[in-house]
Amino acid sequence: MSAAFRIDGKRALVTGANTGIGRAIAEGLAAAGAHVIAAGRRSCAETVAAIVAAGGTAEEMALDVAEPGAAAALPGDLDILVNNAGIIRREDAVAHAESDWDDVLNVNLKSVFLLSQAFAKAAMARGAGGRIVNIASLLSFQGGVRVPGYTASKHGVAGLTKALANEWAPAGINVNAVAPGYIATNNTEALRADPKRSAEILGRIPAGRWGDPADIAGAVTFLCTPASGYVTGAVLNVDGGWLAR
Ligand code: NAP
Repeated sequence: MSAAFRIDGKRALVTGANTGIGRAIAEGLAAAGAHVIAAGRRSCAETVAAIVAAGGTAEEMALDVAEPGAAAALPGDLDILVNNAGIIRREDAVAHAESDWDDVLNVNLKSVFLLSQAFAKAAMARGAGGRIVNIASLLSFQGGVRVPGYTASKHGVAGLTKALANEWAPAGINVNAVAPGYIATNNTEALRADPKRSAEILGRIPAGRWGDPADIAGAVTFLCTPASGYVTGAVLNVDGGWLAR
């Protein structure tokens, strides 16, 4: 493959890399040549094993992004940070607990800011550029149903992506986001288990299928390669056409 699409020798940390979209992103970055630090609050040993079995290199790191010390624990020599870790709490807005709001905002938005800040400080101190990719959502654009905290957090991720891109472009740090559509992971298990919601969703997706985590990995990997060097502040929808409809 053309060198413009390779990231050999780059060091990439992916949060929430034990499963779902994060695991696929870790595998995708490793396949493009990066050394991957698969970070999770659970073991990422399976992700690391899959990368090594495919001929790549990776290590795991214990990291709960909601813990106060998380940003300080970030390695100082990273070239790429993917803020993928996220949670969702489904409840009618009138019943949505304050503790759920805080949990969702802490993981999905506050940690994205603090980890990005630590990444940028370290990169600037080394005189290096870098790439940050945040995982946004269709609910960075739409309101969703029964997920007010999640929607607020993902709108915040889109805004934060643009704010950081503006400030850090002069330092050579590109900040972008990928907004996945409906992807078959733990996050959407409840939706897929509900025949009515599942059929409604599928019927609206022009591509006619749920997304696969690998669909997201391709877009994220592109945003970490030299090929996308002039892309910053973008939120790239990877949704089988959902938002175009
Ligand atoms: P998932 O399978 O539930 O994975 C979420 C990941 O985040 C898991 O690895 C989870 O770890 C990790 N995580 C949660 N809280 C964490 C914390 N405090 N510290 C570290 N890791 C934490 O769901 P997914 O679909 O792959 O979600 C990945 C990202 O995509 C999320 O930001 C989500 O909002 C976003 N997204 C997903 C969809 C979709 O349709 N699936 C659509 C739009 C956006 P555990 O395994 O320990 O819980």
